[in-house]
Amino acid sequence: MKYDVIIIGAGVAGLYCARHLPQNLKVLILCKAQPWECNTFYAQGGITIANGKDDIPLHIKDTLDAGSNLNNKNALKLLSEGSLEVLDELIKEDFNIDRDSNNNILFAKEGGHSISRIIHSNGDGTGRMLHTHLIKNLKHTLWKNATIIDLLIEDKKVYGVCVRTLKGILNIYANNVVIASGGVGGLFKYHTNAYTISSDLHGIMLEHNLELRDMEMLQFHPTVYVESPHARKQLISEAVRGDGGMIVDGNNKRFLFDYDKRGELAPRDIVSRAIFDYCMKNKQQAYMDLSNFSEDGFKSRFPNIYRQLTSYGLRIPQDRIPISPAFHYSMGGIATDVDARVINMENLYAIGECANNGTHGANRLASNSLLEGLVFGKIAANNIIDSTISTGERHFPLNNEILEKDGDERLKNILREIMWNKVGIARTQSGLDSALGGIEVMLLSEIGRLLKLRLLVAKQIITQALNRKESLGAHYRID
Ligand SMILES: Cc1cc2nc3c(=O)[nH]c(=O)nc-3n(C[C@H](O)[C@H](O)[C@H](O)COP(=O)(O)OP(=O)(O)OC[C@H]3O[C@@H](n4cnc5c(N)ncnc54)[C@H](O)[C@@H]3O)c2cc1C
Repeated sequence: MKYDVIIIGAGVAGLYCARHLPQNLKVLILCKAQPWECNTFYAQGGITIANGKDDIPLHIKDTLDAGSNLNNKNALKLLSEGSLEVLDELIKEDFNIDRDSNNNILFAKEGGHSISRIIHSNGDGTGRMLHTHLIKNLKHTLWKNATIIDLLIEDKKVYGVCVRTLKGILNIYANNVVIASGGVGGLFKYHTNAYTISSDLHGIMLEHNLELRDMEMLQFHPTVYVESPHARKQLISEAVRGDGGMIVDGNNKRFLFDYDKRGELAPRDIVSRAIFDYCMKNKQQAYMDLSNFSEDGFKSRFPNIYRQLTSYGLRIPQDRIPISPAFHYSMGGIATDVDARVINMENLYAIGECANNGTHGANRLASNSLLEGLVFGKIAANNIIDSTISTGERHFPLNNEILEKDGDERLKNILREIMWNKVGIARTQSGLDSALGGIEVMLLSEIGRLLKLRLLVAKQIITQALNRKESLGAHYRID
């Protein structure tokens, strides 16, 4: 089996890349479970679009401010300029964007944005709507239940992938491979991510001595309802705060103003740390107060959040919703250049949340990530179209390592506890040292390949966190 392009992942980045590859190319998209089990599907708030050409400099400035200037300015320029093209394409393809009664596009405001520039679809259903739209228009072959367990790499070239399917393990060959496998949510006890998101490809990169960059930069979303029984915790979108949701303590005090004059609209790392710090110091629980909304108003603007929260027995807007920060998004990832090419590789690309092209710097501005998947998905496609690389006829042995072993599940839960408690919102040298020790011990035990890949990534996150002694962006040292 040989393809022109294999795309690993069927979220926004993988699907938009596929959308821009012509039908005369033989393209195969592979994803781990059902196609909708990805972070894209669960995205709520929307997609940032520069509000006209004049807004590009301000969008760039807001993103640099959120990212503590660690951003790559060239990547950021591509992102912001590319947003206008993306909007035109989405409109041309009849993607359903929320509009007012005069048919004007509705732009929402979120934390860290100076102006309203977030488009949304079906209220808080943007991710689901976008994913459904891209799947509906997909012109290439997609295999579900296909887990990549290795890449076939030799001398700066990738020759294909080793994949576990329901029929067994096989190698599939290609001239180009695009990694669009999402972030690292599965490493943490509390997170908002789809269950398929477990950093396998990040681990494979490390095994092949390829660089992961800025891995200490992990974003914790401030407003997550973590009391549900499911592994994926229910996010309460930034847009809820943008539209009037207030964060209060048990005595109804809006304590965020003690930390930042923007209160609920400060960037999410500031809000996360403020909630964490305030609740620890004052032994308080934080709540989302929705009393500025009517029930109907909330239900029509945030139908999915309404449905989820009421399914847990909460009454909206009467009940205050207990909230906590939870792991949400990885700014760090597989190091690429602004052409989406993996550093030191000729025909391997990485796009979307798995990649680090420097767009987000030390912290991501809200709603910039769906946009990143769209813009860099298209950039990767265009570079592949222009490339003439052919990998010829090569055959690699199958990777025969045992994927899962007895006891892996227990160790996975220990890993998640360690990462949440010691590599979370506030970090110390001693906490990171002990986390590293724990991971190293687990790496020496009898474990399956998939757990090994997670542990390698956890180790890399901790090592990079230890190397950065000062606080910056989402990386917060309290010692
Ligand atoms: C609850 C929630 C709300 C969010 N809201 C917003 C928002 O409003 N706006 C915004 O801009 N961003 C938002 N984000 C972030 C954004 O959704 C993600 O960053 C973005 O969707 C990532 O897209 P992606 O294509 O890179 O990866 P994903 O959409 O996560 O897709 C990853 C794909 O890779 C596949 N995969 C993973 N590992 C393997 C493997 N080993 N083998 C084969 N396939 C594999 C998965 O099956 C999946 O198909 C939100 C995230 C969450 C979790």
